[in-house]
Amino acid sequence: MTVPEEILQKYRQAGRIAAEVREEIKKTLREGMPIIDVCEKVESMIRKKGGKPAFPCNVSVNEVAAHYTSPPRDVRTIPENSIVKIDIGIHVDGYIADTATTVCFNPEYESLVHTAEEALEKAVEMLRPGLLMTRFGSAIQKTIKTRGFKPISNLTGHKIGRYLIHAGKSLPNVFHLSAARVLEGEVYGVEPFTTVASAVGRIKNGSEAHIFRLLKHKSLKNPYAKQLLGYIKENFRTLPFTERWLQECVPQNRYKDAFSELLSSKSLISYPVFIEASGKPVAQAEHTVLVSGDGCVVLT
Ligand code: MN
Ligand code: MN
Repeated sequence: MTVPEEILQKYRQAGRIAAEVREEIKKTLREGMPIIDVCEKVESMIRKKGGKPAFPCNVSVNEVAAHYTSPPRDVRTIPENSIVKIDIGIHVDGYIADTATTVCFNPEYESLVHTAEEALEKAVEMLRPGLLMTRFGSAIQKTIKTRGFKPISNLTGHKIGRYLIHAGKSLPNVFHLSAARVLEGEVYGVEPFTTVASAVGRIKNGSEAHIFRLLKHKSLKNPYAKQLLGYIKENFRTLPFTERWLQECVPQNRYKDAFSELLSSKSLISYPVFIEASGKPVAQAEHTVLVSGDGCVVLT
């Protein structure tokens, strides 16, 4: 199936913005920077360039593999000697570009970062209509292993849909027996994660969660909770958001109870931070690609 030109243009625009923002933040990131400033800078660059964030900017440090974004009034900073994954999502009219890079402030982990980038290059080289997911996973695993590192086995790439980050199909980064194939016209976030050979090589959920998504429109008692839910529905639809984006929706003294009711009523689901199970550092590289012709086109 080919993608109509009108939609392709929106994907291209989202991809171009994503790439520009990624390169800009990569250049300016420093040890000691407040993480909240990094998140807000990325999100405001996205808006200035004519896109909207498809999810809150993720700034995940060392053994945190993904899903950390600053809560309101966050005081954390980029630690010295760290490796930092910056994961950026942008949409234009619901068409999403998802891209990530790892910034390395620790010479010891440079080859870990390069290996994630090489695995991503290998992935882009391989992806074409008809490719078996199983073959893809094996090749990524082999690329990472021959360089002396380990893939994170339970983090995958994912098919992208309109207003959907994860549209059902997963692209494994390790051998995984499956009859599923990559199809023409599909868009994927491709994202190998690497860790050191001595690590367990899996992620587990951490105790914190600062990213949320609308699950169901439940009936609510608190009028401010209703107002908040209305705002979420209108502005983010099925896309993830964070509390930093809700601070001015209801009076300040009503916010805490309103948000609590959204959680307790299960109107929202939360995404906990992902942490490498043995506490080892993780690197990531990600592009969004369109599968077409006899290969794929990198959008980001
Ligand atoms: Mn991503
Ligand atoms: Mn992704």
